[in-house]
Amino acid sequence: MEQKPTRRRVMLIYTGGTIGMMKNTQTGALEPLDFENLQHHVPELGELDYELHVHQFRPPIDSANISPAHWARLADIISENHDKEDGFVILHGTDTMAYTASALSFMLEGLDKPVVLTGSQLPIGVLRTDGKENLIGAIELAAAQDPTDGGPMAREVCVYFGSTLLRGNRSTKASAERFDAFRSYNLPPLATVGINVDWNRRDLLRRGPKATFAPRTKLDNSVIAITLFPGIRPAIVEHVLGMPDVRGIVLRTYGSGNAPQQPWLLSAIEGATQGGKVVVNVTQCDAGAVEMGLYATGNQLLRAGVVSGGDMTVECAVTKLMFLLGQGLTVDQVRKLMTTPLAGEVSL
Ligand code: ASP
Repeated sequence: MEQKPTRRRVMLIYTGGTIGMMKNTQTGALEPLDFENLQHHVPELGELDYELHVHQFRPPIDSANISPAHWARLADIISENHDKEDGFVILHGTDTMAYTASALSFMLEGLDKPVVLTGSQLPIGVLRTDGKENLIGAIELAAAQDPTDGGPMAREVCVYFGSTLLRGNRSTKASAERFDAFRSYNLPPLATVGINVDWNRRDLLRRGPKATFAPRTKLDNSVIAITLFPGIRPAIVEHVLGMPDVRGIVLRTYGSGNAPQQPWLLSAIEGATQGGKVVVNVTQCDAGAVEMGLYATGNQLLRAGVVSGGDMTVECAVTKLMFLLGQGLTVDQVRKLMTTPLAGEVSL
């Protein structure tokens, strides 16, 4: 007798976000609702030929309230179910989705299954919602099999939004309004969904044969991001760079990694790097990379001990720093790993 193929198993982790929110009739504000409510608005879920398992955060949260403790919880849920499920979908608010995706990409070391984050701009109960397509598309992508070996198509943390699948740690929320709210400026989409799914095989992460799944949930949030701007006050920058609690600084510089040639700024940065803090240079531009050797205004930072963030997003640099500082490494090891791709987050 012919055996019925087993159905793909996808775990849906519902953390909250607009996708499952509804208007409070008294205050007019959107408030998160339970997963049952969300499911009620997507009867199509019942038509999918997958085995869906749901894990829900109680209460669901607006993603503005997400914290490293929630990331650790997500990593734990995924690691407990990694071998049982074929893929994972995380329903998440859009506001901090790129931070969560970046953090998880480092925490889920050796991941061998797709973890697809999605959400929506309009609640799922609203007529023109983008939530249905995003949710159904994310589930299909999380269940997608590589026809060559039957294994998962994606083995990494991704963001699916507005018909494109992006590498999670390359994604950024670029619009508070549009349905295609996320962008990955420095890496093409991993898949584009139209009538068919067009996979970008060239850029999908492939696991090394020796890689083992070893999730790490410890992060150190002694990190700050500073955006440079003309007229920034020396006393404020000196204070932040000198704070003993700060171990890592993401410096958001101009263009290809340039900063004003001001002696006070250089000596504040030198003081920080010599004191064992890790200062990482990322650009304020959406696209492109830091190249500190290009101009004198960037070269001075290199000499002051600043490490290049290359073409990392700020969300990625902040969470990568938190991750590396949490691993009990030496300062030199953290500096070295900041410039080494760990999960496809930076181009060499
Ligand atoms: N404030 C919401 C959140 O990030 C926005 C959204 O889901 O789009 O949770």
